[in-house]
Amino acid sequence: MILGILKEIKAEENRVSMTPFGAEVVVQHGHTVLVETGAGVGSGFSDDAYRRVGAQIVDSPADIYARADMVMHVKEPLPPEYDLIRENQIVFTYLHLAANEALTRVLMDRRSVNIAYETIQKPDGSLPLLTPMSEVAGRMAVQQAAKYLEMAYGGQGILLAGVPGVEPATVVILGGGVVGTNAAKMACGLGAKVFILDKNLERLRYLSDVMPANCFLLASSPAAIRDVVKKADVVIGAVLIPGAKAPKLVTRDMLPTMKKGAVLIDVAIDQGGCFETSKPTTHTNPIYTVDGVVHYCVANMPGAVPKTSTLALTNATLPYALEIANKGWRQAMKDNPEIAKGANVIAGHVTHPGVAEAFGFNY
Ligand code: NAD
Repeated sequence: MILGILKEIKAEENRVSMTPFGAEVVVQHGHTVLVETGAGVGSGFSDDAYRRVGAQIVDSPADIYARADMVMHVKEPLPPEYDLIRENQIVFTYLHLAANEALTRVLMDRRSVNIAYETIQKPDGSLPLLTPMSEVAGRMAVQQAAKYLEMAYGGQGILLAGVPGVEPATVVILGGGVVGTNAAKMACGLGAKVFILDKNLERLRYLSDVMPANCFLLASSPAAIRDVVKKADVVIGAVLIPGAKAPKLVTRDMLPTMKKGAVLIDVAIDQGGCFETSKPTTHTNPIYTVDGVVHYCVANMPGAVPKTSTLALTNATLPYALEIANKGWRQAMKDNPEIAKGANVIAGHVTHPGVAEAFGFNY
């Protein structure tokens, strides 16, 4: 099969969908890998690094779309690419179609085979191609919180870890899933006093077994949240209700009860945010302050650390890309139900229940 690795064209997106290490493995399996020139540069991989493992560098996305059996991206195709997508061509990337009817209709019109990273699902219900980005965002949330607690950014001027003789910061994490657990590991490791609130008691039981003694587990309720945010130096929003907007757990009227210079990191901003006062920000302009409380609401946090994010993402995508390339999409979906769950739009038909339901298409 011919695989095409496209350069990302979305603003502030420096990841690439395959590293030279991944390309080497794909080439070893007898496939041809085309890489758009400059595709890896934002993640620290030169064209030469791809050439050295046997990939071919191609000048334009049009050439890749014209030649490749399967194209890979990180983000969804954008309007300049729509007309380049060919019938029966496999498009393997994050698509997030349930939030994008226009793109869904384009992909139906193009009659391509569209497999979304985010709906590939393991039998236990986990989403293996979303997990790595939640791991990055969770760990990064604490790094950002530590920075914005500094006075120059409007924070209250405290060190997350404290020092001998001075108390560490109190970090409250709403949601103990992948983001929340990774944030908690970082904050605990730095010596902060950490509270995780989750409404899933089984999850709290599991976390109480694996987290260190400076991590306290609380059942999430409006009263518990109202109470705990008053003593928080940092609040990290990490909740997810699959397929729904994030619930507004920290409301506007709680802000005056919080410490001046406390920091809110709303990781769930990509699902609308779980603080009532959240609005999306960017890496160029990441924070704003409401009632003296610093808000950080960047919707694509992993984009700030593209090299780590690219390596983490491609570690997870490579086995699936290779199986599709080795067997063709039909056989790969027959053999591997995880890949079958990734099918979103095939040959003009919506093939994912969530996308069909979102726009009233037949499924
Ligand atoms: P997850 O499903 O692993 O965990 C979510 C947790 O939230 C679950 O344990 C669930 O029980 C809990 N929860 C749901 N409602 C709750 C409530 N009312 N109170 C307390 N806990 C509640 O999800 P995840 O992978 O950790 O992702 C969390 C959020 O982070 C998602 O919205 C995801 O889209 C987002 N995210 C954002 C970025 C970014 O760059 N901003 C990157 C990755 C993930």
